[in-house]
Amino acid sequence: MKDLRAELAARRAAGLYRHRRTVDGPQAPRMVIDGREVLSFCSNDYLGLAGHPVVVAAFRQGADSYGVGSGAAHLVNGHSRAHHALEAELAAFTGRERALLFSTGYMANLGVAAALVGRGDAVFEDRLNHASLLDAGLLSGARFIRYPHNDAAALAGKLSERETGEKLVLTDGVFSMDGDLAPVADLAQACRRHDAWFMVDDAHGLGVLGEHGRGTLEAAGLGPIDVPILMGTLGKGLGTAGAFVAGAEDLIEYLIQTARTYIYTTAQPPAVAEATRAALKLVDAEPWRRDKLQGLVTRFRTGAAQLGLTLMDSPTPIQPLLVGDNQTALAMSEALWDRGILVTAIRPPTVPAGTARLRVTLSAAHDERDVDQLLTALDSISCDTNNV
Ligand SMILES: *Cc1c(COP(=O)(O)O)cnc(C)c1O
Repeated sequence: MKDLRAELAARRAAGLYRHRRTVDGPQAPRMVIDGREVLSFCSNDYLGLAGHPVVVAAFRQGADSYGVGSGAAHLVNGHSRAHHALEAELAAFTGRERALLFSTGYMANLGVAAALVGRGDAVFEDRLNHASLLDAGLLSGARFIRYPHNDAAALAGKLSERETGEKLVLTDGVFSMDGDLAPVADLAQACRRHDAWFMVDDAHGLGVLGEHGRGTLEAAGLGPIDVPILMGTLGKGLGTAGAFVAGAEDLIEYLIQTARTYIYTTAQPPAVAEATRAALKLVDAEPWRRDKLQGLVTRFRTGAAQLGLTLMDSPTPIQPLLVGDNQTALAMSEALWDRGILVTAIRPPTVPAGTARLRVTLSAAHDERDVDQLLTALDSISCDTNNV
């Protein structure tokens, strides 16, 4: 049996130890964490909807109508009117025939991949894909093929080498640790040309990108013909929990019949679905949230560039500062914490070795003063950490 204590000590020595901080109260720029009020820049609540009173009221009302637990899986008797209505609204929101709710994004990704490919098939993934997409490909049993980050030509080459079996291409729409966008139009073209399924995981684009918040595909001007499978999560921009897959009627019916992570799990609480329905309406009713967010992104990038910090090529609210060394990233995160600011250090294996970073995320709930306070703190710590 392996020596767990020694392995934990080794992680600690390598600057890879992870620990949890405890939150009191809702997600907000200023929140109480480990008993202290801090200014936080690490939530994925990009639109500030997680604690929005209208979303909370819908959740409460959903609990009054449906109770708390859904009681069973969707195919037993856990599929409520609330889930059904949300699926119809997500289909309309994404401009697709149908949408299917999953309890989490992780499960949606595992479910789709295993439903569409298996032994004898191949799955193609960007090497910076989210862990859940990578696991989905690995667990599907299909041949697992990675292509260089955002390299559609390399993908096309690898697709052309596979002559038999199904092909499935999986990519993040917005890369979760880098904030950059996948070249979805080029990837879609390669998939069409080589008869491959194409799925975009738009966990970080949905609600945020595109004039109407429809996400990465709206921003790129693409539709269901280009990207037949769209996966979105509800726990980020929409501020609730869960995920969905949207696509053609046959795809969704096939997933209902075969996706094991759909079939063999309890449906999410109906009240969460009611809350998500309210959040979807806010995405349409309050476009100012997207505009404000974009203004904050510009302000942060301009300020960080003036300080000589290493920004990444990101137009999204994910604005990582590249540090490199694990311990330095950790020291910077701790120095910010000492100044009342929470920005997490992201280290391997979440990102490639030697690319540890501070992952700053912005929200429409932040204001300009918050961004300025972060920039001031970054300026003051960069002197200290240069000596680490
Ligand atoms: C967060 C995330 C997921 C997982 O979604 P959950 O609902 O949190 O399980 C999947 N894909 C990407 C790209 C993500 O960022």
